[in-house]
Amino acid sequence: MKGSIQIDRERCKGCALCIDFCPEDCISLSDDLNLKGYFVAAFDDSKECSACRHCALMCPDVAIEVSKS
Ligand code: SF4
Ligand code: SF4
Repeated sequence: MKGSIQIDRERCKGCALCIDFCPEDCISLSDDLNLKGYFVAAFDDSKECSACRHCALMCPDVAIEVSKS
């Protein structure tokens, strides 16, 4: 099963917790600023997201939704 995530860019504050806790290295900090002036996290769909939900559980701003396909 392959997963994917959606990141709400306006909720994200670029804290990088999701990046640190993703076991598949699917997330990185982009050079894209949101309206609050934070660099937002970005998902790389070429990686093997397992839909483990670690990123969503760690995000303090509830900015991540996980989907399975
Ligand atoms: S669901 Fe798991 S594998 Fe997928 S991006 Fe989040 S932490 Fe990484
Ligand atoms: S944990 Fe949440 S707030 Fe922090 S970088 Fe990831 S998506 Fe953004």
